[in-house]
Amino acid sequence: MSDPLWAVVRRARVSVVEAPLVTPFRIATGQHTTLENVFLMIELANGIRGFGEAAVAPHITGESVPRTRDNLKKAARACEGEDISDPVSFLRTFRAAFTGNHAGLAALEMAVFDAWTRARGIPLWKLFGIRPAPLSSDITIVIGTLDEARTAATAFFRQGFRVFKVKVGRDMDLDVRRVLAVSRVSPRAGIIVDVNQGYDAAGTLEFLKALKARGVLPLLLEQPVPRDDWDGLARVTRAVRGRVLVCADESVKSLEDVRRAIRLKAVSAVNVKLMKSGIIEAEAIARAARAAGLELMIGAMMESSLAITAAAHLAAGLGGFRFVDLDTTFFLKGPSARAPYLDGKGNFGLADAGPGIGVVPPGFA
Ligand SMILES: [Mg+2]
Repeated sequence: MSDPLWAVVRRARVSVVEAPLVTPFRIATGQHTTLENVFLMIELANGIRGFGEAAVAPHITGESVPRTRDNLKKAARACEGEDISDPVSFLRTFRAAFTGNHAGLAALEMAVFDAWTRARGIPLWKLFGIRPAPLSSDITIVIGTLDEARTAATAFFRQGFRVFKVKVGRDMDLDVRRVLAVSRVSPRAGIIVDVNQGYDAAGTLEFLKALKARGVLPLLLEQPVPRDDWDGLARVTRAVRGRVLVCADESVKSLEDVRRAIRLKAVSAVNVKLMKSGIIEAEAIARAARAAGLELMIGAMMESSLAITAAAHLAAGLGGFRFVDLDTTFFLKGPSARAPYLDGKGNFGLADAGPGIGVVPPGFA
């Protein structure tokens, strides 16, 4: 730190890492069978390195791995020789280069904040708050058969998970039966349902009515209608107010989107993801949503332990995230699945976290 050049980027490198999944991650709009993410490493003049990850979800955001890699390679070249001692101002200059590629932006911000906090000897969460809130993740029950839902929920319950996020939105009759099967695994389990834009407003209300008639209501219903159907979102929210939280995911990818959601009273909760907006804007989205009285969820794309741990730092530092959906490492095999502050039941313990994010991704050890 005494070296005035400590914050100068000496070297930056981009690589694409593939990791196998335990089971295909199926949602209403598509599926992942492997993780294929783009990683950025920046090395400061004092030898300290920072790492960032872009989780590219073509079926959700329309981004691609080649474009994300090319954008990050350009950014990596532009970083070399630059000073990151004022990281937020530094990162602001890159925003335009990542228009339409916020997963790439998230990776750049992650690498810069990781290097900066490592150099300062503080954990990443300290950028966002004064003490880390405890976080317990839900676990996802992916789209599949009735049997698969029951088997997965039973195994995850035994493992220690107490909140299930059931993916629905392809076949309403089967969806109702799958949610019921999951809810029967334990009366103590909480149920979240994520439609991933698969229904319309009328269909969503029919779905909830069918569940209620069988004695089950989810705590939270995520993105029931297509992302631009603000009227539909608001209609569902009004109809179930006080009983079920309605959460925007695909509808809210920016500060502008969350302001619109607030203005239209379209939802009662927001799913914040680093990959939708980058880290700096994710913080702004969370603060705006909370100030308007909305509940917060921290979520993720198909992210490995690096980005998942970064998201946990943000949520723990900011606090106020009632819903935590940071479970993708449980669907991965190999070194990308190893998250240092996460136990087998989905609990993050960041109170004793070391500097930075705390993860060196595979291929950079
Ligand atoms: Mg979602």
